[in-house]
Amino acid sequence: MSTRIWETNTVFSYPEYESVKAGVRDSLSNGSDQRLYWCSKCDVPLLTPICYRCNSRGRRFIVDVKPVFVEERSILEEICGRNLPDNLYTARNRLYYKGRFLMSLTANNGHVTVTRDHTDSLLEDVVHSNGSISLEPVIAANEPVLRFLEQQAMDSILEITQEYPDRKPVVSFSGGKDSAVVAHLVARTVGATKNVSLFFADTTLEHPETNDYVKQFAEYYGLPLTVEQADCDFFQMCEQLEPPSRIMRWCCTVFKANPLNAYLREQERILSFDGIRRAESNRRRNYERISGNKKALRQLVFRPILNWSSLAVWLYIFAYKIPYNPAYDKGYARVGCVICPFGTDFNDFLTRKNYPERVQSWETMLVRYFRKEYADEFNPELAKEWMRQGLWKQRKPHHRNQRAAVRMATCPSLKEYAYHLDFSIDAEFLEYLKPFGELAFIAETGFFKIVDEQRFCISGMLGDDLLTISFSDSRVRHNMFRLERQVKKAMNCVKCGACVGTCPSRAIEVQSGTSFVIDEQKCTHCLSCVRSNFTHYGCVALSYKGKRNWIEEV
Ligand code: SF4
Ligand code: SF4
Ligand SMILES: [Zn+2]
Repeated sequence: MSTRIWETNTVFSYPEYESVKAGVRDSLSNGSDQRLYWCSKCDVPLLTPICYRCNSRGRRFIVDVKPVFVEERSILEEICGRNLPDNLYTARNRLYYKGRFLMSLTANNGHVTVTRDHTDSLLEDVVHSNGSISLEPVIAANEPVLRFLEQQAMDSILEITQEYPDRKPVVSFSGGKDSAVVAHLVARTVGATKNVSLFFADTTLEHPETNDYVKQFAEYYGLPLTVEQADCDFFQMCEQLEPPSRIMRWCCTVFKANPLNAYLREQERILSFDGIRRAESNRRRNYERISGNKKALRQLVFRPILNWSSLAVWLYIFAYKIPYNPAYDKGYARVGCVICPFGTDFNDFLTRKNYPERVQSWETMLVRYFRKEYADEFNPELAKEWMRQGLWKQRKPHHRNQRAAVRMATCPSLKEYAYHLDFSIDAEFLEYLKPFGELAFIAETGFFKIVDEQRFCISGMLGDDLLTISFSDSRVRHNMFRLERQVKKAMNCVKCGACVGTCPSRAIEVQSGTSFVIDEQKCTHCLSCVRSNFTHYGCVALSYKGKRNWIEEV
């Protein structure tokens, strides 16, 4: 039987909450710049300087930590070769005990070693409980703060749903801890009156535990769940583009935008809630509480826990006994794609240990790429080193443009240009020109043109290799840039589907790897897809393909 979240009463009972509320608000007002504190009396981390368990003042601690789980501790014990106590916290591969730095773990070349080891001075004989960890004293010490954060998040959820009453509330559920908290908060706030549902975009590269966990979570709380999967093959995309890296992060675009757009195609108006937090990364520090999504124009996203720390998220989870993804027990600080260019070396170490078959398929793909890229100098030992040290993650795009079309000014005084293509114009090529206007055919001759009387006339012939454009206004470079962007898309498109969401009219349809079509009945020629900058060139292939077909000027 499922648990009805909106009937969950608050578990917090701090009697003087109202009198300390203002103090809590003031000490949290710095949002993402929060620091944690440590109560030496209760031996617990604090979200604000006051310990509400013993009423004493804590000393400054580090920026954010997460508790170490039991299974995770066994892995750490294996690494450092000694018993470790309960009440351990971790942040960025560093361990803390009793609010003091205990040791660092350094991962390199597939191995983890202990560096800056203070265990001898800080640990005496360690006897630890072998059961599950208890965060009750930590929750008690932070109770008014958690209650304040909870109330603030619920008020903001209520306000936004009242502001957009016609939008259906949907939680973008990633299977991670943050989205579990958001799902819980949203359902508790509006679940009794609105049909809150979960949407899970399966990137196909998830932790093996995640898919089951997502279903179990939805079932446990009786929330309707939609799972959409990217229908393109990741390894095939790596062949067509290049393997992703920290700079070339096309995988996120393709494998998250595709399922999302498939979902949005079936929906009217939705209000998405996600679990993004500013403290997660420097890039996320500047995120707004509400925003649109340039990869999915029809989506409006609200972020109720934007200013929460990771510790606050874990305390909320333990306070309400919310089921969390078992991948966290294995020591992962974040769950998502099991291998990721943004993953730390420690994450890679865990993945090698837990899912060796996943690592194997990545390494095969990377060696293939390495062999293709450095054919003459290919050295299998070097390739191995390159992968183990994670150097593949730091690659920058290095485009090699090959000529596939030539632009000529046929009549500069009339502002007319011709493009000589290295291929014949076919029906598929014309799909990419549809945004510019209605295609008119002169029957049986194959001659086509798109006329925008104010701006330009594009013309050509099916089966021919010449495309002509003449401009009727002075913004030649501006319009030429737009036309050329579409021609280049046509010459390079890998049918990844990532641009589908740039169309507000749902006119773009992409069958993964096979077809790209713009529905003339739906297209309003708004040019949103042409102007879009959801990637640098508004197209995954143009931005990330190693070898691109390009236009030269003569
Ligand atoms: S965004 Fe959609 S409607 Fe607008 S031009 Fe492109 S395909 Fe047409
Ligand atoms: S035009 Fe670009 S973004 Fe759109 S499907 Fe083709 S490759 Fe992907
Ligand atoms: Zn205390």
